[in-house]
Amino acid sequence: MGVTITDDSKRAYFNCDKCPAYCCSIYDRVQVTKRDIKRLAKHFNLSVEQATSRFTKPWEKEQVLRRKKDPIFGKACHFLDPETRKCTIYHARPAVCREFPLTRRCGYYDLLTFERRQQDDYDVLPVVQITFQKWKK
Ligand code: SF4
Ligand code: SF4
Repeated sequence: MGVTITDDSKRAYFNCDKCPAYCCSIYDRVQVTKRDIKRLAKHFNLSVEQATSRFTKPWEKEQVLRRKKDPIFGKACHFLDPETRKCTIYHARPAVCREFPLTRRCGYYDLLTFERRQQDDYDVLPVVQITFQKWKK
């Protein structure tokens, strides 16, 4: 997911090039719209039906991207390169991937840099998993 930070981007406080792609790994649910599936189908020269069954699966009332084994996080997006940690379909990626993280900070990049400072080890990688539940204080 994420964005490419270029010289003319508004300043962003994260750098996807230095990140193991938390956003492509820890979410079970990367939503794809009909438009996203059409784009994927075109990219791979497949029919919409083929792209839907090959790359997506149902999740409640929506379709999400399929996942696969990942050497760092256990599971990750089907389209994440496990070594380079880059998206292999960057120009055909779904809209949610283009938008993430919506702000000029990325919480996962903050976590990465925070832990590296705390551990005084700039090679250390905090491995996190995320689940959601309702909670009221
Ligand atoms: S499609 Fe690409 S950018 Fe989106 S989650 Fe998968 S690997 Fe990441
Ligand atoms: S988790 Fe944040 S910094 Fe890492 S690739 Fe995704 S958007 Fe970029």
